[in-house]
Amino acid sequence: MLRTLTSASVALGPRVAGWVRTMASHQLLVTPPEALLKPLSVPSRLLLGPGPSNLAPRVLAAGGLQMIGHMHKEMYQIMDEIKQGIQYVFQTRNRLTLAISGSGHSALEAALLNLLEPGDSFLVGANGIWGQRAVEIGERIGARTHAMIKDPGGHYTKQEVEEGLSQHKPVLLFLTHGESSSGVLQPLDGYGELCHRYQCLLLVDSVASLGGAPIHMDQQGIDVLYSGSQKVLNSPPGTALISFSDKAKNKIYTRKTKPYSFYLDMKWLANIWGCDDKPRMYHHTTPVISLFSLRESLALIAEEQGLENSWRRHRDVTAYLHGRLQGLGLQLFVKDPTLRLPTVTTIAVPAGYDWRDIVKYLIDHFSIEITGGLGPSLGKVLRIGLLGCNATRENVDRVIEALQEALQRCPRNKL
Ligand SMILES: *Cc1c(COP(=O)(O)O)cnc(C)c1O
Repeated sequence: MLRTLTSASVALGPRVAGWVRTMASHQLLVTPPEALLKPLSVPSRLLLGPGPSNLAPRVLAAGGLQMIGHMHKEMYQIMDEIKQGIQYVFQTRNRLTLAISGSGHSALEAALLNLLEPGDSFLVGANGIWGQRAVEIGERIGARTHAMIKDPGGHYTKQEVEEGLSQHKPVLLFLTHGESSSGVLQPLDGYGELCHRYQCLLLVDSVASLGGAPIHMDQQGIDVLYSGSQKVLNSPPGTALISFSDKAKNKIYTRKTKPYSFYLDMKWLANIWGCDDKPRMYHHTTPVISLFSLRESLALIAEEQGLENSWRRHRDVTAYLHGRLQGLGLQLFVKDPTLRLPTVTTIAVPAGYDWRDIVKYLIDHFSIEITGGLGPSLGKVLRIGLLGCNATRENVDRVIEALQEALQRCPRNKL
């Protein structure tokens, strides 16, 4: 064996000789994994948790298209269409509007890494896990981070926000529009104006609410808004929508230090998304196929339903879910109906049950995913999401039937 390889290497010349020698003197330590020799196996599931959701058929089809280059002019055209779609679903005319190559968290990091410099004062509404994450990232940046901590289920009144603004003089306030760990819909009217009176920018997480609850970025004075692809938009996870007002853009372009992240540097991202007047340069390879899917998600909202129809459908179907849950004797976790998120519903874990048994029963017997709580709401709630194309009365009937059976069959008084 060694002799054949060596003589081949002579014939192939000195360049090849190197790897032939390496192959001859090293055996493969790791053999091809057995598991990979079997076909890919993915169960069919109805995803009624707080996200990800099922893909819409049109989005699924886009995911099966062949690649093109991330810098081809046809791709730039698709990126421009995505930008217009984001401007529509955000209701903004901001030029600095784009999709980040990453999940919802990457948009949060992009916002904070670009807007905050070490030592800046940062105020956070921390009424669930998303505010906690914002605190964590703010602290890593070295911002003076002030958390307004509330129990899950709480929201922030304008008076509470104003107290925080006057006490801490922050450059940025973070609020979560759809608090999916607790099921709360944070009111936003007037909050932007209030922030601006205190020379503070308003950053809003709408990952769980966008497309399911009304939001008007420009009219509500929101300076930075971001969302994700895998909730109401029914796209695969891995792209995140974001937009910056002129005030926010100005803060980024006049900062004294460069943001620590190169990958999430908004000046670079603005360039590759055609949001500045410079020729587009190579920064990183964008997730081309995921962007095809995102384009189709945005097209679906634009043409098939319209934003207002989408808001209405989520409100109506979720109200139907609430009625059916109460019919089973279950308690909704958010008491005030006006503060209930129309996309993700939280249910108080029924007395005597272990929430894990119920979640497991639904997945094992019905192939339906619902989830327990997350972060501060863990152990307190069950969560049902009706997101995008999953928001139908038929799906409500399916999950109610499954829950009814689970409540009969799962052990009680276990805890
Ligand atoms: C799901 C969710 C996120 C996080 O999104 P990832 O895509 O998992 O990073 C952030 N905020 C809210 C409100 C969410 O529901």
